[in-house]
Amino acid sequence: MQRRRFLQGALGGGIASSLIGCAKTSKPVNHSLPLSPAGLPMQTGPLAPINAQPDRIISTNVCTRPFRAQGPRIEVEKSGNKTLIHNYGHGGSGWSLSWGTAALAESLITADKQTPLAVVGCGAVGLTTAIHCQRAGYKVTIYAKERPPYVRSSYATGIWSPDSRIVTLDHARAFADRWQWMARLSYLRFQTLLGLAGTPVEWTTMFRMADKPFDDHGGHNIPGEPPYPDYSKALLSDLTPKEYDLSAGQSPFNAPYVRQFPLLMFNISAYSQHLLDVFHRGGGKVVDRSLSSVDDFKQFGESVIVNCTGYGAKALLNDDSIIPVRGQTCKLIPQDEVKYGIQYFDQHTSVYPRRDGLLVQAGAEGDFNNPLANIDPQESVHAVEQLAKIMQSIKTRT
Ligand SMILES: Cc1cc2nc3c(=O)[nH]c(=O)nc-3n(C[C@H](O)[C@H](O)[C@H](O)COP(=O)(O)OP(=O)(O)OC[C@H]3O[C@@H](n4cnc5c(N)ncnc54)[C@H](O)[C@@H]3O)c2cc1C
Repeated sequence: MQRRRFLQGALGGGIASSLIGCAKTSKPVNHSLPLSPAGLPMQTGPLAPINAQPDRIISTNVCTRPFRAQGPRIEVEKSGNKTLIHNYGHGGSGWSLSWGTAALAESLITADKQTPLAVVGCGAVGLTTAIHCQRAGYKVTIYAKERPPYVRSSYATGIWSPDSRIVTLDHARAFADRWQWMARLSYLRFQTLLGLAGTPVEWTTMFRMADKPFDDHGGHNIPGEPPYPDYSKALLSDLTPKEYDLSAGQSPFNAPYVRQFPLLMFNISAYSQHLLDVFHRGGGKVVDRSLSSVDDFKQFGESVIVNCTGYGAKALLNDDSIIPVRGQTCKLIPQDEVKYGIQYFDQHTSVYPRRDGLLVQAGAEGDFNNPLANIDPQESVHAVEQLAKIMQSIKTRT
């Protein structure tokens, strides 16, 4: 019954170095070849160079992914006279799956619409859950220790990555249906957030490079980590745009293997503010509150509490199923003229053209089961230097 209600809701809601050091003198390369396979709205003009210089780093952050081998915990627990709806543990996919997981959590609420709800947590999951519950007719208050821009969600990469460290291959079959519903609903919801003031969500063009022929499972087998399913390929290929291999003549880069594809991107500063605004406009309030143990849920006036505490749930509930997966990113001064991103996993470097700063991510072995939140500045400097080398490989055609 609950599942039917969830599915109906889901469907009803719709679903530089030649360039380094040349920051002031470099001009866009005149790339005369059309890059786009027929009919695709891809980057076809010159590629503006990314000024990949360490002294253009404006912030460096570490975030901890709340990974659970069996997938996120979305379930009801009765605790005295309180009903707890848990909605946490979304690994590297919390932004991407947020609307779907919000719908799923809301579908578990059996209380009538007059019942005031508490949502604990003001990250990607808490905010979207609170808004979804408001739209379902509930009066919602968010309680949280931190709010954007100081929640872990604010330090994410900010791309559509619905199957990034969301479940292990061992548990993939059991979680597949839930994942697909969450991913499809979220994907469609994100399309309704395009074209808004401040550009909270947008599509960008990505170039994925490799030193060896692409291995379709490559991104899902990370040294030192369990294998993960490639859900997107198996379950979403009808929904999302295709990836195209570029021939040497088509590729703007000198890397041996290059793929091009459109990617949905979240400009997290603007998007978080958008979500906060929507929640407030819906009559919601955000209250500062820090919980130190599960007993603190008893202090709430609300009888129904949705627990969206992300990695915080590990300490709050003594939940050892949450495995920390560390991730460090840095931002370069924004460049509005840069309309593409790069993923070069063989070189542990990727960059995304976010409006709130060019987001550079360094892949590091030893991130899995690593709770350390200390920043290693050299890691990001190295990633930017790697990016500078990639920028040097932009072909200079005239
Ligand atoms: C480097 C990196 C890159 C990522 N990139 C992406 C990406 O591109 N796309 C994507 O979809 N996902 C990405 N993720 C994953 C995503 O960031 C997480 O899945 C997501 O942030 C989880 O959101 P959340 O709301 O559950 O948790 P949080 O953002 O951690 O929010 C938890 C909330 O609960 C509150 N809270 C916690 N404990 C308590 C307590 N005891 N008392 C009171 N309040 C409490 C916090 O203050 C906060 O408000 C990335 C993660 C990392 C680390």
